[in-house]
Amino acid sequence: MTSDDHNDGADLLLNLNFEPDWAKKAPSVNSCAGGDRDEERPRRPRRDRPPRDARDRDRRPPRRDHSGERRERLRDPQRAPRPPRVEPLNAEVHFLPEKNNIGAVVHLVRARKQAFPLFGLASIFLSDARHYLIKLTAPKGQSLEFHQCGVCQLVFLNKADLEQHVLAAHLDVHFAVEEQETEPPAGKFVCVGRCPKTGLLLGPPNYHGFNAALQELHAKHYAGMSLQDCRARIEMIHDQDVIEEWRNSCRRTTVYRPKSAPADAPGLTRDQAEALLREKHLNRMMHSRSRVIMPAALIAQLPDESLTARIRQAWNRETKRPFTLALALQPALKHMGLHVFRSKGSDHYVSAIKPSPIDPGHAVPLIRSILEFVESHPDSKLPAVLEALAPGGAADSGETAELIQSVTWLIEKGHVIEYFDGTFRLPGRGRPMDKGKQSIEKERQREDAGPGASPG
Ligand SMILES: [Zn+2]
Repeated sequence: MTSDDHNDGADLLLNLNFEPDWAKKAPSVNSCAGGDRDEERPRRPRRDRPPRDARDRDRRPPRRDHSGERRERLRDPQRAPRPPRVEPLNAEVHFLPEKNNIGAVVHLVRARKQAFPLFGLASIFLSDARHYLIKLTAPKGQSLEFHQCGVCQLVFLNKADLEQHVLAAHLDVHFAVEEQETEPPAGKFVCVGRCPKTGLLLGPPNYHGFNAALQELHAKHYAGMSLQDCRARIEMIHDQDVIEEWRNSCRRTTVYRPKSAPADAPGLTRDQAEALLREKHLNRMMHSRSRVIMPAALIAQLPDESLTARIRQAWNRETKRPFTLALALQPALKHMGLHVFRSKGSDHYVSAIKPSPIDPGHAVPLIRSILEFVESHPDSKLPAVLEALAPGGAADSGETAELIQSVTWLIEKGHVIEYFDGTFRLPGRGRPMDKGKQSIEKERQREDAGPGASPG
């Protein structure tokens, strides 16, 4: 592991605050949660409450009737109308751990010599958009394609929108952008166009650079609307001071110099640079595939609402139990030398120590007494073991030291599992240690099928 791996995972490790209650925590930082529509915002998962169904509704006591009040509030003209709900795109969404952060998790699990819940580790990745990726897959048999920017990985459903994005946002990949001094425009101008949102001055509508300035404004700030609508927003200012301000702003002009051209090659205008990029580079700066992976931090920038709605829907599901992230994390942790096994019912745990059951009957008396105590008192902690096997012993006595040494030895050999909360258990004997992917998939299918589905 490089030092960079540690740096990348530093933020993640701050979140590795394992409490017995880990699974009840809702992720606190996530770009998925940053939506602008309340009804789309991922909700805090309520693991402590069973899912509501029609029978629950019937059993619920009648509510006090505030409906009249509520209707009044809903009629309030001050309230902004809710935007129409967007139908989520039909696409598969999987969440993947960001690979630089896996090293940090492995480092922690190794250092602590304890067993951590796989789903708990997966939840931590999901708690911060910087720590996971989103895999989008077209459903089988459908012609859906995702168009992805090769520079920033942003995903579009419409290829023309992606082309506009590359031209507007990534000219600097192939061009050095320079500011140059030039003569201000000569002539008499009666008004200049100004963007009410950004305050940008576009120049007089009859000026030759007006359209190029409008197109640049449209690409950068109004990509979601038509060029015509963008133009309709421009206000015409007749104030001579503002016209002079625009004229002065023209003293500086931006030129685009191809990075592959000699240093003394003439600079290009934005239009010329875009045309050249389109002709020579555009196709290699983007791709169209039925499966793409993008950083989760880009969710807020996705231009297609149906895709955003689908990802939020999947994210809501994933925060309740991170199946897809656990599925992707498990092989990565195994590949890095950790062991994944099932314990405490059917939960998956991760440890640097391979569980290794032994028969207490074949052990020396002290070891046997520890194994028998842990077997008959599952989830007890070290103080309980000491109290039972060396009652009244002083903390610094030889007897206590020998007992602690034996417990430590049993843990390091995998004959006793110490969990992240300090509790002990014996590794299961004869229990399938790890059916891995299959068992996580089965659990997911059971959950999807609902509470009535039969186990197994
Ligand atoms: Zn991009």
